[in-house]
Amino acid sequence: MIRDSIRKIAQEHFKPGAAAADREYRPPVENIKVLADNGFAGVAIPEEYGGLGLGVFELMLIMEEVSRACANTAMLMGGTGGGPTPRVIAAVGTDALKKKFLPKMAKGELFAAWSMSEPNAGSDVGNVQTKAIRDGNEYVINGSKMWCSGAQLADVFLVLVRLDPTPGMKGVGAIMIERGTPGFEVGKHLDLIGLHATGMAPLYFEDCRVPAENVIIPAGGMRKLFEILDDDRVVGNPSICLGVASAALEDALAYTRERKQFGRALTEFQGLQWKLADMAIDLEAGRTLLYAAARKAAAGQLTPMDASVAKVYVNEMSQRVTNSAIQVCGAYGLSNEFPFERYYRDVRGFAIGYGTTEIHRNSIAREMILGNYKP
Ligand SMILES: Cc1cc2nc3c(=O)[nH]c(=O)nc-3n(C[C@H](O)[C@H](O)[C@H](O)COP(=O)(O)OP(=O)(O)OC[C@H]3O[C@@H](n4cnc5c(N)ncnc54)[C@H](O)[C@@H]3O)c2cc1C
Repeated sequence: MIRDSIRKIAQEHFKPGAAAADREYRPPVENIKVLADNGFAGVAIPEEYGGLGLGVFELMLIMEEVSRACANTAMLMGGTGGGPTPRVIAAVGTDALKKKFLPKMAKGELFAAWSMSEPNAGSDVGNVQTKAIRDGNEYVINGSKMWCSGAQLADVFLVLVRLDPTPGMKGVGAIMIERGTPGFEVGKHLDLIGLHATGMAPLYFEDCRVPAENVIIPAGGMRKLFEILDDDRVVGNPSICLGVASAALEDALAYTRERKQFGRALTEFQGLQWKLADMAIDLEAGRTLLYAAARKAAAGQLTPMDASVAKVYVNEMSQRVTNSAIQVCGAYGLSNEFPFERYYRDVRGFAIGYGTTEIHRNSIAREMILGNYKP
């Protein structure tokens, strides 16, 4: 039911403009308005703050369907009602923070961004160097951040900072910073291989003063933060990969049915039939893994192993499927007259964002060695 409604909206409204948004590097914010008009902007925000309060499984389906039409729109949803910042505010924010931000996010009127990475702190989050030093009722922030998706649109940022000189993760916490705060600047657009329309940018802080009550995760609270975000590993990143890979296979099948060589449709060549079959096997294996992880997350039973296995498999599956989609379409697959090259570019970064596939493999191996996995 939810899947049917969101698929209809996404295919009708988001798919037609997806190529132009990518080509023009223009975040399709109008799609968030469409979601809001149809009651889908605040999907993960609790009902008392105007959201739908949907569970992990439904949220995953919505992200998958939106991404099937436009991956950039799904990334923007992460900045309104479906992403890490609203989930953290809903889980541990003060009443004041919840009332201030969540109702507007639920209407798609306020965008949030999540900023962890720095020039010298990527996988190694414990090396965050941006400092927030207490001064009376305020914190003074100095430093810079990298790769912040949605930065160019965001009204409010959840920023990981060093709140305490204790080295490593123990000194790191998180603070909310609003656009326009003196001493805070959003940098120029960062141009990656894909996801061109997410407004990604660096952030700069120079003696930026923020009220002390904006600290949302105190120093040493990173474990709590990552617990909240465990579900997000299922809902966001791999759901988008699954949606894009589904679109790639659907469109490749349509193309190869139509295209004729040697007087026959491409689908009549057994070599291509097997390639298409392999794409379907890979896609369905990924879907099964991700849906199982989402069901466990919805039941509060998601283990780090489930989340990492699903993320790694679906990230890598989407690279294989979108790559094969290009191959079966020949040079047209590489042309920007068709969506295949965009699908391929859009999924590539997901194996790096939200924990690289290597970091997730570390986590899988750790669980195995600890005896938390029985083959
Ligand atoms: C599309 C996209 C969107 C993003 N959005 C955001 C965002 O909104 N906010 C934000 O804060 N960040 C964002 N990021 C940044 C992302 O979180 C980082 O890229 C990621 O944490 C990896 O850090 P890094 O790029 O510095 O790579 P590094 O950590 O330097 O890693 C480089 C390589 O070394 C490997 N490596 C590192 N440590 C280990 C280890 N212990 N064991 C084995 N291998 C290791 C990595 O797997 C990788 O292959 C985004 C990235 C992408 C691609």
